[in-house]
Amino acid sequence: MSDTPIALTPVLTAHYAEEKSWTLENYLKHGGYAGLEKARSMEPGDITEAVKAAGIRGRGGAGFPTGLKWSFLPPDDGKPRYLAVNCDESEPGTCKDIPLIMANPHALIEGVAITCRAINCNHAFIYIRGEVAHAYNRLLTAIKEAEAAGLLGDLRIIAHAGAGAYICGEETALLDSLEGRRGHPRLKPPFPAVEGLYARPTVINNVETVAQVTTVLRQSPEWFATMGTEKSKGYGMFNLSGHVENPGLYEAPFGITARELLEMSGGIRKGHKLKFWSPGGSSTPFFTPDHLDVPLDYESVGAAGSMLGTRAMEFFDETTSVVRVVSRWTDFYQHESCGKCTPCREGTYWMKQIMHRLEAGKGMEGDIETLQDICHNIAGRSFCALGDASTSCVLSGIELFRDEFEAGYTTPAWELFPYEASAVFEEGGRS
Ligand code: SF4
Repeated sequence: MSDTPIALTPVLTAHYAEEKSWTLENYLKHGGYAGLEKARSMEPGDITEAVKAAGIRGRGGAGFPTGLKWSFLPPDDGKPRYLAVNCDESEPGTCKDIPLIMANPHALIEGVAITCRAINCNHAFIYIRGEVAHAYNRLLTAIKEAEAAGLLGDLRIIAHAGAGAYICGEETALLDSLEGRRGHPRLKPPFPAVEGLYARPTVINNVETVAQVTTVLRQSPEWFATMGTEKSKGYGMFNLSGHVENPGLYEAPFGITARELLEMSGGIRKGHKLKFWSPGGSSTPFFTPDHLDVPLDYESVGAAGSMLGTRAMEFFDETTSVVRVVSRWTDFYQHESCGKCTPCREGTYWMKQIMHRLEAGKGMEGDIETLQDICHNIAGRSFCALGDASTSCVLSGIELFRDEFEAGYTTPAWELFPYEASAVFEEGGRS
């Protein structure tokens, strides 16, 4: 690791604070659509090679190399092929794609146009959560602006509002939902690149990924690849939330550490100290203060026992009950389980029952072992990644804070952590 602290690199977020940052006028003022102009002077295959050279990896959580994903499409047969952009952002703590659409929607639209040129398609869908009507409306306005200015040519971009299901962020469930069906993950293979939307070759990319393609074309692959680490190149948005002085979006090169990000954001709230944190959202195993110097790249976070995920970094201080956090997140996964496969559907239900018992101080002997057993029967045995994701907080919570789970046999979490409980009761929250 270098001794030189890594600085923030605002790129996509550089003009978020400007008045009416979302307008075409403001975007053009800062060189907007220059990347698309450059892409139109290039052969489609050369755009894909540029993205490969930059080393962009999917920013939706999985981190799959973007250019490689595009190159999985079969040769063009003259029939339709599609781009689907995943903006079903809904994991607890993740908040980067919706803000991008609110503050800088033309970066996404330009990226969509560049990606479509690279994969020879003229029909793109942006799948966005229906609950975020303000972002949906902002996106519609921006698409109309780009169309009216003649920037899109014969490319058709459809903003599609989903009905609100976390599972529709799984790429094949997203396709089912786009086709008008209940969102359920599909069996793979065939993979979407071969048989995706309407059984035609389809690329599915995350909002931030597509927007970053814009910056690669506008600058250069070399510029992008100078940031980050050897295998996790470029920059990304880190969303800090929880008990931090200044929660928000911080754009920085991969390889930055949580300690550096915390310093830039004012640190843990005054008078308190960090107890645990998640590096990549509720689906990633917890870290402790001992992990603050782990470089935030896919490889280093993985080697330290967690995952980078969506870089939704949630920080919890000493007033927080781990049992309560795990209980809330287990509620989420049980609610969002689509029910297609038994391990996840039944397992998340029983995890929720046990977590509620432990939270209320009414745990039964053997509950911790039963939780672990349920997790081991979900992880690796479920149809999609949501099942595995539901086990991360439970298993890492027990591993790091077993004494708090054992305390749940006799003592309610709100008695052990009265500060947090009083705050919740004052707000009229759940008991
Ligand atoms: Fe549905 Fe859960 Fe099975 Fe995924 S793991 S298919 S969300 S039941």
